[in-house]
Amino acid sequence: MKALDELTFDNRFARLGDAFSTHVLPEPLDNPRLVAASPAAMALLDLDPAVAESPVFAELFGGHKLWAEAEPRAMVYSGHQFGSYNPQLGDGRGLLLGEVYNQAGEHWDLHLKGAGQTPYSRMGDGRAVLRSSIREFLASEALHALGIPSSRALCVIGSDTPVWREKQERGAMVLRLAPSHIRFGHFEFFYYTKKPEQQKQLGEHVLAAHFPECLEQPEPYLAMFREIVERNAELIAKWQAYGFCHGVMNTDNMSILGITFDFGPFAFLDDFDAHFICNHSDDQGRYSFSNQVPIGQWNLSALAQALTPFISVEALRESLGLFLPLYQAHYLDLMRRRLGFTQAEDDDQKLVERLLQLMQSSGVDYSLFFRRLGEETPEQSLARLRDDFVDRSGFDAWAELYRQRVARDPIQGQDLRRERMHAVNPLYILRNYLAQKAIDAAEAGDYSEVRRLHQVLSRPFEEQPGMDSYAERPPEWGKHLEISCSS
Ligand code: AMP
Ligand code: MG
Repeated sequence: MKALDELTFDNRFARLGDAFSTHVLPEPLDNPRLVAASPAAMALLDLDPAVAESPVFAELFGGHKLWAEAEPRAMVYSGHQFGSYNPQLGDGRGLLLGEVYNQAGEHWDLHLKGAGQTPYSRMGDGRAVLRSSIREFLASEALHALGIPSSRALCVIGSDTPVWREKQERGAMVLRLAPSHIRFGHFEFFYYTKKPEQQKQLGEHVLAAHFPECLEQPEPYLAMFREIVERNAELIAKWQAYGFCHGVMNTDNMSILGITFDFGPFAFLDDFDAHFICNHSDDQGRYSFSNQVPIGQWNLSALAQALTPFISVEALRESLGLFLPLYQAHYLDLMRRRLGFTQAEDDDQKLVERLLQLMQSSGVDYSLFFRRLGEETPEQSLARLRDDFVDRSGFDAWAELYRQRVARDPIQGQDLRRERMHAVNPLYILRNYLAQKAIDAAEAGDYSEVRRLHQVLSRPFEEQPGMDSYAERPPEWGKHLEISCSS
């Protein structure tokens, strides 16, 4: 276990130079204080969880202090936002403080979000409010616990700094951890500004630091692009299987590592709705739940365009063609497991599609359905779940197919079936209304609910005594929360 001053830095990205990022110091928050810290994320830096309570922790992550070896930099990037190219993006309110190695030799970027203005702030104040910082903290750690690749969150620091959004709020900072903060938009920036030398430098850095195995391949850039396609196909399959809606899938919010990145008005589905739009400024539904799949591919083709100096168009097209079949295979594999099947059958896709149609038309709670399906024997579970469906004869027809399908599967015995299904079907998910309750308390100065919710969500598959209220269907008001897009 390390103390805070024992971190080992090696700032590879900063060494790329001023064409890639600008040196900027964090602007401190007034009266910084710990809202919540993630012991699991602290372990990634070998930090003793007890150090989160020390005053120096809030000072470091509230922008007051810095390690001597840190080199805070604002990164430059661009990207496609809602389908249109925006040439002027970059870290407008976040800073890459430095890169840290842990004892296992893993590398973690420390990125402080809400750290004040930078050359890329445009009209923005460089700040992040408490509410959105809590949402990012909870979501990063909850997704990770579900097995969905994500950037991580070490802590949220609250403050007295006033920040204006629709109303006056308080500034906060999140310390985000990821093996890399390089986005599709980094490659787009050097491609569209026609800086081939720097684009090559970026490419070589990314290959060496993040895709070293691709350097062994005859065409390293092609191997890397293929890997990015594969990782994103798997990531989006997990989002779809678990009902996660990102909300702002702009190419500047897409990580080259295929991890969930840049949290905004995201939501987990409560009632199943394929057309769900969590972002209220998304009038066309470009980033609706079911559009995440084609948009994932669209974003990869935007990255492919930016990689045309390195890879032939033909090879890029061929790699892009892998996205949908890979997505489909990962998605079906996960859905089979969620339904309790241990082997594949040809008609499984139809069985899943039919179930989702029935859930859609009856507004069935997406997460609880799967959890309850594994709770008792198929007959008992189906009999109970039937009450949630309006189209009873439709459900009965599906239930009969499901019952026969389970009977053909080699796994027998309810105990084993329950154990396997509960291991992939969470009891607790980050519903918007749960986050909102924790935020309301935190805005009133009580951080205990943020901490409790974080703790519950860090073991989403395990039933936790006394936590039943976190596993319930949301109240009616909780299903229709408008999550502000300003953050
Ligand atoms: P986002 O929608 O959070 O992905 O941000 C899009 C772009 O706007 C990025 O370049 C951000 O750094 C920038 N940005 C967002 N909010 C602010 C803010 N309050 N101040 C400065 N820049 C911001
Ligand atoms: Mg962003």
